[in-house]
This record gives sequence, C-alpha cells and structure tokens, in this order.
Amino acid sequence: MDRPISRRDFADGVALAGLAAWAAGGCAGPYEPDWGEAWGDLGEAADAYPPAWQGLQGDTADAMAVPDALHGRRFWRHAGVPRPTGERYDLVVVGAGVSGMTAAYRWWSQDPDARILVLDNHDDVGGRARRNEFRPAGRAGPLVGYGGPPSAPSPPSPCDREAAGLLAGLLAEAGVGPGAFDGRARYRKLGMRDGVFCDRESFGTDKLVVLRPDWIGELPMTHEGQAELAHLLRDAPDWFPGLSEAEKKGRLAGLGYAAFLREVCRAGPEVIRFCHTMPVRERALTSELISALDAWSMAGPHSFPGFGGLGLRRSATDPSPGRSSGDVGDVWCLPDGDHGLIRLMVRRMIPEVAAGDPAEDVTLAPFDYERLDRPGNRVRVRLSSPAVLVRNDGSADAAASATVGYYDGEAVRTVRAGAVVLACPHGVIPHLVPDLPPEWRDALERTVRAPVLCATAQLRNWRSWHAAGVDRVRFTGAYWPDVRLAPSLDTATYRAPADPDEPILAYLVRPAVRADAGADPRAAVAAGRRELTAVPYRHLEFTVREQLARLLGAHGFDPARDVQGLTINRWTHGVPLGPTAERPAKRFGRIAIAGSDSAPGANAAITTAILAVDELRADRPDSAARSGQGV
Ligand SMILES: Cc1cc2nc3c(=O)[nH]c(=O)nc-3n(C[C@H](O)[C@H](O)[C@H](O)COP(=O)(O)OP(=O)(O)OC[C@H]3O[C@@H](n4cnc5c(N)ncnc54)[C@H](O)[C@@H]3O)c2cc1C
Repeated sequence: MDRPISRRDFADGVALAGLAAWAAGGCAGPYEPDWGEAWGDLGEAADAYPPAWQGLQGDTADAMAVPDALHGRRFWRHAGVPRPTGERYDLVVVGAGVSGMTAAYRWWSQDPDARILVLDNHDDVGGRARRNEFRPAGRAGPLVGYGGPPSAPSPPSPCDREAAGLLAGLLAEAGVGPGAFDGRARYRKLGMRDGVFCDRESFGTDKLVVLRPDWIGELPMTHEGQAELAHLLRDAPDWFPGLSEAEKKGRLAGLGYAAFLREVCRAGPEVIRFCHTMPVRERALTSELISALDAWSMAGPHSFPGFGGLGLRRSATDPSPGRSSGDVGDVWCLPDGDHGLIRLMVRRMIPEVAAGDPAEDVTLAPFDYERLDRPGNRVRVRLSSPAVLVRNDGSADAAASATVGYYDGEAVRTVRAGAVVLACPHGVIPHLVPDLPPEWRDALERTVRAPVLCATAQLRNWRSWHAAGVDRVRFTGAYWPDVRLAPSLDTATYRAPADPDEPILAYLVRPAVRADAGADPRAAVAAGRRELTAVPYRHLEFTVREQLARLLGAHGFDPARDVQGLTINRWTHGVPLGPTAERPAKRFGRIAIAGSDSAPGANAAITTAILAVDELRADRPDSAARSGQGV
C-alpha cells in the first residue's frame, strides 16, 4: 500500500493500449534499439544525455502519463497529499519549451539574482523543440539535428521589437547573422532540387519527379489532370471577381484548402490527390486541415495551385506573413533548430551546464544535464516533473505569492513562487489552476494541438540522394509525406556534411490527424492521437526504411545498411490547429499565461513570454519581489 505511485500508475487506457501494442510487437518496455557504433565516442555518457537517445522520444508514455491523467480527471484519485519542499522562488515557469525558457530568460535578464524554477514533464529541455544528436563513426564531432519544428524564428520575421531584440542578441552570440539562413545552397550547387514522389498510395505507382522545368509532363497523371494542374499553377482566374481584397481573404479563410480546390477551382481528383500533402512541409498538416488563406500565404510563386488570379497582396495579419515555401530556400538558423535558442538561454542562466570556453559554439558545447537542477543554482530546470496544481495564495486580487505543485515521480511536491508563468499547452491550464476565471477556462479549452511524428535518421552517406538529384521530396500519399536531408548549415565550429560520401541526417514528418474521422477537428485529432499512441516503434522504423528504399533504392540506397541510427519524436500535442484562443490580456493574481497557442509560430511563443513576464514584474507586490521575503 505504501508503494510510491509511479508515472505508469497514471497511464490511461490510451497509453496502456499503446504499451500493449508494443508488447504484442515484441517490445515489452521502451524499445532500446541496438545501434552499435551509432553511439560513437559518447559511450556511457549517452545514458545521461537525452539528445543522444534514439528510439521513441518526445511525448512518450512516461512523459504524458501525468498530463493525460490530469486531463482525464484521474490524477488526484491516486496522487496522495502534496508535500512541501520548502523551496521558494521569485518565478516558477511551467513548460521548458521556447516560451517557458524565454520567460525565465526575460526575468533573469532583468534580475540576475532572481531564483527561478522551470518545470517540464519531458526528459529534455525545449518542449517540442527537441534536439536529436548522433555520433557516426569516423566523423569528428556529432551530427546535430532537430526533432520538432525546423526553423528558429529569425529577427527579420515579424515579431515585435522586444522579441526581435532578444533573438538577435542570442543569435549573434551563436555567430548566426542575416545571410546565413539558406540551408539548401550547398545542395543546389550540387544540382540537387525539390522532388515530388507520386506514390502508389495515391497514384497506383511509384514515381519520383524532380522539379525541373516541364516537370508537370512527367507526373503519372492523365493529360487532362496535367493540364488542369498547369492551369491552376500558371493562369488561375480570379475566382471572386467584384469582391474587395479583404472579402476575398475572408472567403479563403472560411474554406479548407482541399475544399477550395474542389468547390471553387472545381479541380478533379488527380489534382486534389496531388495537392493533399502540400502543406506538410510548413504546417505538418494536410490540405483538409489548413485554410485556403493559410495555403495562399505560404505559397511562393507557383507552389500552391489556384491563387494566381486573385491579385492578393501580403499583409502583416496573414497567417504566414513574410514566409515562403517557394524556391528560395527555407529560413534556417541553427543546426538544432529552435532548440539552439534554448541552449543559448540555458547556458547564459546556468553557465556550469556547459563546461569549457563560454565562447565555444553552443551547437557543440557539451551540456551536463546533472547540473540543470543543483541546489546552489539560482536558476533551476527540473525535468520529468509535470506541474499538477497552480494556485494563488489567497484571493487573486490580493495574492502576494502562489503555490505550485508538481509530481516528482513518486509524490506531489509543492514550492512557493512570487510569480508563475504558464507556458505549457493552453488546454492543460484549466486542469492546473482550479479557480481560473470561467472566461479564461472556456477560451483555453478551445485550443487544439494536432499530433505529428518527426523522425531523424542517421544515414551512412548521401550518395544516392545526389544521384537522384534531390535533397527534399514530398510524397503525395505515403506514410511520411515530407522527407528531406538536414539543412546544410555551418556555424562557428559545427561543420555540416559537405561531401556526399559523408554521413548525414535526414528528416521525415508525418502529420497524424485522422482527417477521415469526421468533420469535427477534435474528433480527427483524438483519433489520430489514439492511432499514434498505439503504433509500435518497430513499425515506424520499418516505414522509415521502406520509404527511403522506395525513394532511393534505384540509386544504390540499402535500407538495412544505410540507416545507421533513428530517433522518432512523437508529438501527441504537436502543431496548433485553430481556433487559437486570445491570450488573456492580464495576469490572474500572481499567474500569467505565455505559450504559442494564442497565435501561430515560435515568434508568438517568445512574444507572449515577454508579455507575461512584464505583466508580472510591472506590479509585483513589494513583499514578493525578492525570494525569502514573503513568498
Ligand atoms: C513538426 C512541427 C512543426 C511545427 N510547425 C509549427 C508551425 O508551423 N506553426 C506553429 O505555430 N507551431 C508549429 N509547431 C509548434 C512549435 O513547436 C511551437 O510553436 C514552438 O515550439 C513553441 O513552443 P512553446 O514553448 O509554446 O510550446 P512547447 O514546445 O510545447 O513547450 C511547452 C512545454 O510544456 C510542457 N508541459 C505540458 N504540460 C505540462 C505540465 N503539466 N507541467 C510542466 N510542463 C508541461 C510540454 O510538454 C512542453 O514541453 C510545430 C511543431 C512541430 C513538432
């Protein structure tokens, strides 16, 4: 009876179904792949270094057991009585993603003596911005990549001045400046391009079409289908003559992109099938689940068919202002994507975490995870510790502090805080804060995050990609629609593979919403999440190898020999899928909300963190301003 409650005790039916499926697939526990030399010179240190962990990572059963139990209202039935740790902080942040770490960093920048605690349910910092690291034999240093969103938000993109300043400062420290963002230039110099793989799942046959001039004629479609696609790409008419620009955008905003193609453009089934996975690269969603306005605003010249004749101009309120998935190359800042920003912030706040020269490139600086949560630290990051309760001490109007409870793997522990920033998914917040104002609760509960899988594969070399003439390929219907080589980005000390004979990382993304599960996005998301949770890792590994073989087998790729390592990042709560909730405009007592669910993009994660901290700091009760004096 006195046995401590473990995370697994909170696992719900979904997680248990997933575990049962694993067991049925021959893996009774977390799967530990035998990658042999893929660990390279990291040796046993890899055990304490989450970025090097392969197999299934991200929203694992362990990471999600407590948040899911809170959501299912089961947690407190088993949790026992909370026990105070006696710790007091100026700020407690819930969520160690881009937003939460920015909140901690903002507070620390203004008060370097502050005591700050960051809590997260995952085993690594970064939230969905997870780092994946591999050590191929024979390479000097690791291959570094990302397991979530690809690009760090960059200063030229439209975030407010404060956020841009914070980013520019951090990125300058990493030696990344404007002009260093094109991660595909090296591949283009080698004659490699985009490709579309029309697959047997959607076209009855497998065919790679490299996007050279006149590529449409190579598609395995009827002449009518090819002509229709060419028409929609090159000379689509104005579908809404007589409407103002705002009215046209309003129409597009109210339609899914697939519905726009079907109902407005009257596109036939071949074109609809061809376009199905187009939004995956930018949004990790398929064409039914993004609005036509979103598709238009992502489109560079000639990428999403159907918009050419509308004569629309870009504005700051568009869903993806200033971004383009066209032929100009994506925006890449750091080899580990948004996680690089997290590292920069953590290293500043907890210098001991990265031994050695502080000027050393943060991409390669070894991080000691044991040092994230030492009693002597003023800033502490406590991983695998989901928050379960956040409450103002007293009425929201008068509270000078708040109490935060978290689950440490055995019991609920509490700390006191002068201020709390909630930078976790908004849907979690009503389950953490029992006395939340009802209008906040309603808005926060409406937010939805769609599930997604992001695989990072270590490949022996990239000769076969070079021979195929592609570095980035969209599959029209196969399991992983977005397949690409890692962007080739050098930093001060990190050298991306430059020769096709060198080992390299490849990324594969699978949006996991079940669009066929009904018109209600929540039902589609829930069905996708159930499927994702149940699928065995071995099956995912098989699909990665099989799909790469279909793409590259004709050019010498051997899936058994050439895939040397694999991390599959499962995000059951991955990509924001509207509607977004307005961020509550003011704090609730000593609690404020940050995070990226109120507006799309990591820029929003940063901006909301800055707003939340500034609100809490603007009118701190004097007694709460310093730890140990009233909190
Ligand atoms: C493939 C991919 C593509 C994406 N593309 C886009 C895009 O196009 N546009 C876009 O807006 N976003 C996109 N995202 C989402 C993107 O990751 C976020 O916008 C960004 O990382 C912001 O992070 P955040 O800090 O707000 O949230 P997160 O990274 O989710 O961080 C929040 C953290 O809080 C943790 N948490 C949850 N509950 C608790 C709890 N009870 N206690 C403690 N911690 C808790 C979470 O587990 C997580 O670690 C994409 C994500 C993926 C995976």
